[in-house]
Amino acid sequence: MMVPERMIGAVLTGPEQLQIRELPVAALGAGELLLRVGAATTCGTDVKVYRRGGHPRMLKVPTLFGHEMAGTVAALGSGGHKFSVGERIVVANSAPCGECDYCRRKRHNLCRSLVYLNGAFAEYVRVPAAFVARNTYRIPDALPFARAALCEPLACVLHGLDACELERRAVSSGTEEVAEVVVFGAGPIGLLFVAALAREPVRIILADPNPDRLALGERMGAHDSVHIARGGGQARAVRAATRGGEGAEIVIDATGVPQVWRDAIDTACIGGLVNLFGGCAKGTEVPLDTHRVHYDELTIKGVYHHRPATMQRALALLSDPDFPAGLLLSDTVSIAQVESALRAMIDKRALKVVVQGTA
Ligand SMILES: [Zn+2]
Ligand SMILES: [Zn+2]
Repeated sequence: MMVPERMIGAVLTGPEQLQIRELPVAALGAGELLLRVGAATTCGTDVKVYRRGGHPRMLKVPTLFGHEMAGTVAALGSGGHKFSVGERIVVANSAPCGECDYCRRKRHNLCRSLVYLNGAFAEYVRVPAAFVARNTYRIPDALPFARAALCEPLACVLHGLDACELERRAVSSGTEEVAEVVVFGAGPIGLLFVAALAREPVRIILADPNPDRLALGERMGAHDSVHIARGGGQARAVRAATRGGEGAEIVIDATGVPQVWRDAIDTACIGGLVNLFGGCAKGTEVPLDTHRVHYDELTIKGVYHHRPATMQRALALLSDPDFPAGLLLSDTVSIAQVESALRAMIDKRALKVVVQGTA
């Protein structure tokens, strides 16, 4: 396979400043590989980073941009390799060190030296050795690149599902009925939660201000939906949709909005679990009803990112054609159109957009 010397890529240079540039294709070091991008998908995190012009953990401007990617191996650096040129792969956007105390406890998402990879909105991506060794996977021939690129967000969601203690909750409800799960937020992450939960013996209630997204949520497996107003204070309306108005055994925030975190806590039933999955802006706080947390014995969890094990489970789930992840992908654009794709997401005209590569 011939690798050109130069490529096209989207470079973030500041808040809402994205430039399409011609750049040299990076030279490879030992253990590295060159990904020829087949498809990259846009993500709510990309929108956040685009608007803020950076991210405290993931990247600093100027930088190549985009983090959900799949494609083919175009070239290999020196050293032994588990991949060969021409293979179809998905690359995660982070790599754990594999050696720190958190990695040893298999809590790779909390790795002390977690490194991030950006640059998916480009023709080629240099994949560092840590990613090749610990968070890159072959994908089945029948799995399209755009669908494979959803591995990263779905891996986050499966990690979030693990935190829900579904089996324990279903048993401890003590009734013939299945546990109820409320999902706040019908963006791509909330909808992936719905699709993944739909495979479990639970009743799913989706809450969001956008009627089109609620309708899509019902197609993806939500049993009920609640049309709420923006800006918080919606717990009463959502509780009314739960059995007996008692609140749900499991409540998931998939918005990252502090007022909604508060609503999520207020929507849990006695003994319920609250999964605070959406990351809020730094410095924000929410008040806590200490009496309720104690006497109702609420479990409140923060949940972040994904692990290599959930990347592999996400890949298996995406390989099942019945899993409805494709419903999230509205448009396909070229690298030159990335900025308009991000705009479409900001204006809620798109959930996720496929940025076509050349593989
Ligand atoms: Zn993402
Ligand atoms: Zn580590």
